[in-house]
Amino acid sequence: MINRWIAFTACMLAGGALGWLTTAKGGPAWSLGVGLGLGALIWLMIDSLYLARLLRWLRAEQGREAPAMVSSQLPRLPGVWEEVVDRTRRLLKNRDQQLQESQARLDEFLAAMQASPSGVVLLDTQGRIEWCNQMATQHFGFDVQRDVMQHIANLVREPAFKAYLASGNYSHDVVIPGSLSTPARPVKLSVHVHSYGKDRKLLLSRDITAVELAEAMRRDFVANVSHEIRTPLTVLSGFIETLRTLPLEEPERARYLALMAQQSQRMQTLVNDLLTLSRLEGSPFPGANDWITTSALLVQCEQEARALSAVIAPRGHRLEFDAGPASEIAGVQTELYSAMSNLVTNAVRYTPETGLVSVSWKLLKDGRGQFEVRDTGPGIEPEHLPRLTERFYRIDRSRSRETGGTGLGLAIVKHVAQRHGAELHIDSQPGHGSRFSLIFPAARIRPAHAA
Ligand code: ADP
Repeated sequence: MINRWIAFTACMLAGGALGWLTTAKGGPAWSLGVGLGLGALIWLMIDSLYLARLLRWLRAEQGREAPAMVSSQLPRLPGVWEEVVDRTRRLLKNRDQQLQESQARLDEFLAAMQASPSGVVLLDTQGRIEWCNQMATQHFGFDVQRDVMQHIANLVREPAFKAYLASGNYSHDVVIPGSLSTPARPVKLSVHVHSYGKDRKLLLSRDITAVELAEAMRRDFVANVSHEIRTPLTVLSGFIETLRTLPLEEPERARYLALMAQQSQRMQTLVNDLLTLSRLEGSPFPGANDWITTSALLVQCEQEARALSAVIAPRGHRLEFDAGPASEIAGVQTELYSAMSNLVTNAVRYTPETGLVSVSWKLLKDGRGQFEVRDTGPGIEPEHLPRLTERFYRIDRSRSRETGGTGLGLAIVKHVAQRHGAELHIDSQPGHGSRFSLIFPAARIRPAHAA
């Protein structure tokens, strides 16, 4: 500041001296006053010049849109102006740094919102879309460029959603179809609005199609299990009532007891299959170090098939077993046997007596192993094929029950196949028999002598 006073005094002194010299050389008496005024004017002009340069620089700084470091073209000004420039520069630098930090935080926050598995939509006080993430655009079919600042009720036209938004009661969510929903592939969204700030709203959407599907499957499963158990139970309790209340002859009594044993056997089979399925779902995936001999599995399957055929077909079946090359599969013995025996016993159960059931094991050229069961049974209509591995899906309900089926056999086969990385192929044509094959990956197969 002292410099400023010195500069001003110097200008005044120079002007005064010039005026005094003019007066001394015989000039007019007011020359001193003019000289002083001229000195003040020159000082003011120089000062205004510095001020103008400072203002020009400040305007240029203000005009910058994006926060960046302060421009390096600082005006070089003397004295107090240098300090003004320096302090302003520091203030601007701090402002830029703060802006950059807030921008970085905002970017990180928006990136986190983008990464959210839920759809996120920010609504202003009027219910217009201020921002939404990628997932929300998928859920609702928004176009970020086109739909920002549009009222959400104009874009999501589902009446349930409009009523929910208008109600102002956001203590629960609302379930609406997603933008990609079709009758063949329904998509369900759970939408929840949360109020925040001054009358602003945060809308969260979640795709609950899979959850709803799982819930529906669980309900169906419980209903199916209850039905499957209730039928033999009803029969059993009927027989028990009869035995308790009626004086029966011994042969009749023996017949009733045999029928009761049959029903309890049916329940036992069902419970065993249910336990197998739940074990398959709950246990860790089979390791690759336990090697099971295929020929032993085929021998077990053959014994079971012959025993079953003798019981259900008085004239028997033609059963052919080809154990193929001595090989081993890496997996769980009980699971592999369960899958193979289900395929073999199905072939025996659904093929009329004297029909042919051929079972084989072979190694394919690419190293994979194939377990195949062919039969000359009734075959399967093409529309049933994709659903055969669903739990409790049966084409011929009475044939399945008569021969001790539970409707869970192929579901077990599918699970075992998945757990061992194997593929289940079903080829069948009505009237031309069926072919079920399990193809195991080469990594799980080795020749038996490699042990
Ligand atoms: P189930 O205990 O009823 O046999 P599965 O899950 O093993 O249940 O089989 C599902 C349905 O697939 C059966 O009910 C039957 O209708 C059909 N199926 C399975 N194997 C054969 C086969 N070899 N020939 C004809 N139909 C079959």
